[in-house]
Amino acid sequence: MTILQTWLIDWHEQLDYRHPRWDGDLQQQCDQVVKRLRILLPWAAERHGAFDEFANELASLKRQAEAATGGEKPPRRVGVSCTCGHTLRVTLDTAGVRCPACSTQYGHSEALQLPLAVRRAA
Ligand SMILES: [Zn+2]
Repeated sequence: MTILQTWLIDWHEQLDYRHPRWDGDLQQQCDQVVKRLRILLPWAAERHGAFDEFANELASLKRQAEAATGGEKPPRRVGVSCTCGHTLRVTLDTAGVRCPACSTQYGHSEALQLPLAVRRAA
């Protein structure tokens, strides 16, 4: 993220553009940077002396991001209703779950056969 912003600042300086501004939260800033970089990419590919370096850094960033999201992505949790009405959070590969409210123990397939918990509208 910071690396991308640094590159964008660098490109802006070379183009005599104003210093880029970041608005919003991290996700919004990230979107802005990526959008700007995309727009300037053809210019950079042709004119920027360190474009190879940029491409390499981008590739390694991408690998890091993929390793981070692919390797340790938390399994998706679903809420199911125990017969007592308590909502249990289970993953699809859960080995089993024990209801903290009524102490009922569910095995893997039992837990996944419980009705999905309905999210109450506020
Ligand atoms: Zn229960």
